[in-house]
Amino acid sequence: MSLKNVVNAETGEPIEAYTTDLLGVKVIIHTEEGTITDWIDETYCPVCEAHFIGPRVFIGGCLARHDFYHKFQDSYRNAGITQ
Ligand SMILES: [Zn+2]
Repeated sequence: MSLKNVVNAETGEPIEAYTTDLLGVKVIIHTEEGTITDWIDETYCPVCEAHFIGPRVFIGGCLARHDFYHKFQDSYRNAGITQ
């Protein structure tokens, strides 16, 4: 795996993958929408233990989508629908 347009903010070295070795490292990400400077962090879902490592801005998006997934599953369960 190779990330495109992601570099270490301090050294300028390319970031190949988001791993636990990079927790706390500041990175610069160039996207079509803009340039993001952010820190690598990790989070876990307390419900299903899904795990995510990446820039905090993407962790926020992941948590929002993941929370929506659980709420969607809850809505089926609350309506008595089994999948
Ligand atoms: Zn979950």
